[in-house]
Amino acid sequence: MQVIKFGGSSVASAENINKVVEIVRSKTGTEKLVVVVSALGGITDLLLQCAGLAALGNEAYKTNLQEIETRHLNTVKELIPVTQQSSVLSNVKKMCNEIEDICNGIFLLGELSERTKDKIVSYGELLSSQLITAKFKSVGTDAEWKDARTLIITDSSFGAALVNFAKTNETINDYFSQATASLFILPGFIASDANGTTTTLGRGGSDYTAAIIAGAVDAKVLEIWTDVSGMMTADPRIVSNIKLIPKISYQEAMELSHFGAKVIYPPTIQPVMSRNIPVWIKNTFAPADEGTVIQNESMTNGSAIRGISSINKISLISLEGSGMVGIPGFSKRLFEALANHKINVILITQSSSEHSICVAIESTNALLAKQVVDNAFAYEIETKKVEPLFVEKELAIVALVGDNMKSHTGIAGRMFSAMGKNGVNIRAIAQGSSERNISAVIALSDVSKAVNVLHEAFFETTYKQVNVFIAGAGNVGGKLLAQLNQQLTFLKSSKRLVVKVVGLTNSKKALLNDEGIDLDNWKTLLETAPSGTINEYIDTIIAKNLRNTIFVDVTASDVVATCYNKLLQKSIAVVACNKVACSSAYTYYETLKHSAREYNARFLFETNVGAGLPIIGTLNDLISSGDKINKMQAVLSGTLNFVFNNYDGTRPFAAVVKQAQDEGYTEPDPRLDLSGKDVMRKIMILARESGEKIEMDDISNNSFMPDSCMQGSVENFYAEMEKQEAHFKAIYEAAAAKGNKLKFVASYENGKASVGLQHIDPAHDFYHLYGKDNIVLFYTNRYTDQPMVVKGAGAGAEVTASGVFADIIRATHN
Ligand code: ADP
Ligand code: ASP
Ligand code: MG
Repeated sequence: MQVIKFGGSSVASAENINKVVEIVRSKTGTEKLVVVVSALGGITDLLLQCAGLAALGNEAYKTNLQEIETRHLNTVKELIPVTQQSSVLSNVKKMCNEIEDICNGIFLLGELSERTKDKIVSYGELLSSQLITAKFKSVGTDAEWKDARTLIITDSSFGAALVNFAKTNETINDYFSQATASLFILPGFIASDANGTTTTLGRGGSDYTAAIIAGAVDAKVLEIWTDVSGMMTADPRIVSNIKLIPKISYQEAMELSHFGAKVIYPPTIQPVMSRNIPVWIKNTFAPADEGTVIQNESMTNGSAIRGISSINKISLISLEGSGMVGIPGFSKRLFEALANHKINVILITQSSSEHSICVAIESTNALLAKQVVDNAFAYEIETKKVEPLFVEKELAIVALVGDNMKSHTGIAGRMFSAMGKNGVNIRAIAQGSSERNISAVIALSDVSKAVNVLHEAFFETTYKQVNVFIAGAGNVGGKLLAQLNQQLTFLKSSKRLVVKVVGLTNSKKALLNDEGIDLDNWKTLLETAPSGTINEYIDTIIAKNLRNTIFVDVTASDVVATCYNKLLQKSIAVVACNKVACSSAYTYYETLKHSAREYNARFLFETNVGAGLPIIGTLNDLISSGDKINKMQAVLSGTLNFVFNNYDGTRPFAAVVKQAQDEGYTEPDPRLDLSGKDVMRKIMILARESGEKIEMDDISNNSFMPDSCMQGSVENFYAEMEKQEAHFKAIYEAAAAKGNKLKFVASYENGKASVGLQHIDPAHDFYHLYGKDNIVLFYTNRYTDQPMVVKGAGAGAEVTASGVFADIIRATHN
C-alpha cells in the first residue's frame, strides 16, 4: 500500500486538482493507494476568520462564508462536467449551509470554543476530499471516500488532539483489510475523540494524518506532495540561494520541522520512523523533480549541517532567583505548570549555577505562561525566593541541524561568529544532547539576516551576498559604480561574492532597490528616484537590517561623516574616502574606532591618504606586526604636486590650479588643498593611525598662500591668485635658482607634525616625483636607515574609486 498526501496549494484550484488527479492516476493499478488531502489552500484560515468574526458579533463573517462557498462551487464547475455537477454542487451547498448554521450560532452567542473551532475547520477537508472524490469518479477512476474521523481516534484536546495509537491503528487496519476499493480519498487534519466529537491534529496536520495511516498499515512508502521540490537547506521564502537536500534522516527532518521548516508538520515522522517507511517530499507542480527522501540514515558526505530553520513569534520566559540554587523540584514545577495549560516548550536552557531557567515558547502563550507560572510560585515570589516570571517577546529561534555535527568541532563557534559579525544579538542558546542541533534565540527583526548569513557560512557552494549602500554619486562615486559594474561577474565567479548596490544617494535623491540597482542605468534611475535626506537614508539602512551591509561614503560632506557611529553600532561596515570623520576631533575618531571594535564592524578609509595607494594599510601592517613608527616624511597632496610640477612662471599660477581642478585632482573646494589644510588632515590621520593623540591645532603649517586668496568665494580665490602672481613667481624662482624643486612636505617625528613648502634638492627621494604622485617614507624600528617607501599616483577619481573598491572587498572579509 502507498499513502500519498496533497497539501493546500496542491488542491487550491481546479487547475491544481487536475494535476493531482494526473499524478494519482499515473500510480493506480498495482497496489492500494490512499490519498489524503488538505483543504483548498487558504480555506482553513478563512474558516477560522469567519468563526472569529462571528464570535465578535461582526457581520462581516457572512462575506467570508460567501467567499468559501463561491470558491468551492466555482472549483466544482470548472472541474467536473456539467452533466455530473448537480449532486456535487448540492453536497457543497449542504455543507456550506451547515457552516453557516454554526457561524450564526456563534454570532448569536458571541462565544467560540476550541471544540466549535475544530468543528468549523473540519469542513475545509470534508469539502476538498469529497469534491476530489467526485472528480475521480467523473474521469472514470473509482475512488472511495472515507471519513478520517472514523479512523483516527484522539483525546479531546481540541485544536491539536493527541492520537490514541492503539485504537487508531486497530481501526485503520480493520477498515483497509476489509475494503475492496483500490483508491481511497481521505480528508487530512481531522479526527474524532472517544465520543465521536470532531477534533483536529493541529495546523498543518494533514501530513500527520497521512503518516498515521502509513504507519498503521505499514505502507511501502509515504509521499507528501507540496509546492516545493523537496526539503531545502533553508526556507525558500527567506533564502534565495537554497539547495535541495536529496536525502535526510528521520531525526534531522524532525529537528528541522520542529524548528520551523513548515514543509512537514513535526509529528509526521514518528509513526513512519518506527516502521522504517521512507517518506518522499515531492512537488505537485514539478512531478519529474527528484524530491527529498526521508529515511533511516543521513548523507555521510558534504556539510555537517543538513539545514537551517527558524521559528518566528517566540517569547522567552525566565524564572530566576537565589532561592532556586541547590533545591530540587523547581524545574519540575515550572514545566508542570506549563504542561497543565498545554503550553508547548520549544527550547530550554538552564545556567549551571541553577540560578535561572529560560524557556522558549510561542508568543501566543506568553500571557498565559506568565499567569500560570506566577501562580505556581506565588509563595516563593512573595517570600522573594524567586522573581516574578520575566517575559521577553518579539523573539525568534534559528536552528542548525545535522546528524554529523557531533563529529565536527567548531560549528557553534562558526555559527555565533557569523551572526556576531552581522550584529545579531543572541539571547539564549541550546544544544540538544544528541548534538543534532544548535539553536539560538534572537530578535524577530534579525531572523532573515541571521538565516541568510548562516546559510552563507555553512553551505560553501553558495555565494556570499554583500549589500552596499553608497552616499555620493559625483566624480568618485560615478567611477566606483562603473568599476563595480565591470567586476560583478568576476567577483561572483572567482571570489563567490555577490555584490549588490542596494542604495545610492546624492544630496537630493535616494535610490533603493533590495534586488540591486541596475548599474548600467544608475544615473537615470537616481534622477527619477524620490527625494530624501541623508538621515532618512541612514535610518532606512538600519531598518532594512540586511546581512553583510557596507556603507560607502564617497562624499566630502561633514553631515554624512556624522552618521558613521550610528551605522557601526549596528555592525554595519563603513568605507569612506571622505576624510572629515578621521580628521575631526580626536574624540570622534576614537569613538568610531571603538565602535568598530565593539560591534565587530569594519571601518576602512584607506583612500583618506594617497587615494588608492596602500599607505594606511601598510602602516597598520607595520604596527600590527610589532613595529613602531618613529618618523614619517611625505608628499601627500596630489594637487600641490601637480601644481608645483607644472608651474614654472611661464603660465599664471592660477591657471595651473584651475587645470588641476578641471582634471579632478582637487578637493571640491580647491582652497583646502592650496592652504595645506588637506595635507594637515592627512598627516594627522597617519599620526593617529600610528597611535598619536593629535589634533589639527597641534600641526604647524608653513603656508605659502597669501591670506587675501583665502577669503570669500572660490571665484575670489582665483581672482586674488591672479593678482598675486608675482608672489608665486618669487617662490618658484628662489627654489629654481638653487636647482631645487618645490614640494609641499608633511613630516611627523616624535609626536610632532608639520606641513609646509620646502626646497628639494636633486639628491632627495622627493625630487623625482612627477604629476600627481604621492610618496610616504616610513622610518620605523625595523626600517631605520632606509625607510619603507610607498609611492604612486595619489589623486584622481579613478584611483580613489579603486581604493574604495578595495576597501569594500576588504570589508567583506570580516
Ligand atoms: P502544504 O500546503 O503542501 O502542506 P506547506 O505550506 O505546509 O505546504 O509547506 C510547504 C512550504 O514550506 C514551502 O512552500 C516553503 O515555503 C516552506 N518551507 C519552510 N522551510 C522549508 C524547507 N526547509 N524546505 C522546503 N520548504 C520549506
Ligand atoms: N488545512 C489544515 C491547515 O491549513 C491542515 C493542512 O493543510 O495540513 O492547517
Ligand atoms: Mg503543510
